[in-house]
Amino acid sequence: MPELPEVETVRRGLEAAIKAPAEIAKVDQRRPDLRVPFPKNLKKRLEGHNVTGFGRRAKYLLLYISSGEVLIIHLGMSGRILITKGHKPEKHDHLIMTFKTGQQVILNDPRRFGMVYLCKEDELEAHKAFAHLGPEPLGNDFNGPVLAARLKGKNTPVKLAILDQKTVVGVGNIYACEALFKAGISPLRKASTIQGARAEKLAASIRDVLTRAIKAGGSSLKDYRQTDGELGYFQHNFKVYDRAGEKCRSCDCDIQRTGGIKRITQSGRSTFYCPRKQK
Ligand SMILES: [Zn+2]
Repeated sequence: MPELPEVETVRRGLEAAIKAPAEIAKVDQRRPDLRVPFPKNLKKRLEGHNVTGFGRRAKYLLLYISSGEVLIIHLGMSGRILITKGHKPEKHDHLIMTFKTGQQVILNDPRRFGMVYLCKEDELEAHKAFAHLGPEPLGNDFNGPVLAARLKGKNTPVKLAILDQKTVVGVGNIYACEALFKAGISPLRKASTIQGARAEKLAASIRDVLTRAIKAGGSSLKDYRQTDGELGYFQHNFKVYDRAGEKCRSCDCDIQRTGGIKRITQSGRSTFYCPRKQK
């Protein structure tokens, strides 16, 4: 599933390739629905209008339209965006937008868990996809005190709390493990105890692991299409994720005695951490 860094990389790719304002000459909607129905009269509401900019909120891509509406795209489990020219429609191409320049933006999604919405720009924050969301981890309004306030009084383990989109958006399972490791915080620690300096450290770590992943993604992009046909994880040199039983790179621990990186299950999902470094 594409995570925030992958979606942000797609946004940057679109922004670099499609020079806004860009007139949408033709829209080819090739099926009635993905996980939800396509917006009503999508073709009519897009054709002849300009895309004026590209944004992102959580894991949603936002295409700002000159009509005052915003096209909202979620890539679901297997969705990807292709930027091309003179494309012959392929299986699983569900939406093809052709710009006046001849450039095409294609949404291809074999498993069809993706979603496309269209709403008025001034109703964006109240849209059902966004109304319940917490702050952007890469936004200027995300920091230690903001995170601390959101974790205050929460009895759940901190790992589960930061996966919750109401706390902060876009921190998936892998990035939650990596951020907690970097901050030296146990995934089992009660969320309410993450205050003050600890919250500062965690907020900075979340920002750092996501920023690094975006950087890694930007440099690995080849015409925005991954060779395996899916958006993969860009960052493969994880410090703890999927490294159970291996030596932790931060400790000088005797692996025979300590067992190295530990894997546990929290709410049905794997957590990897170093019990020695993370308290
Ligand atoms: Zn360690």
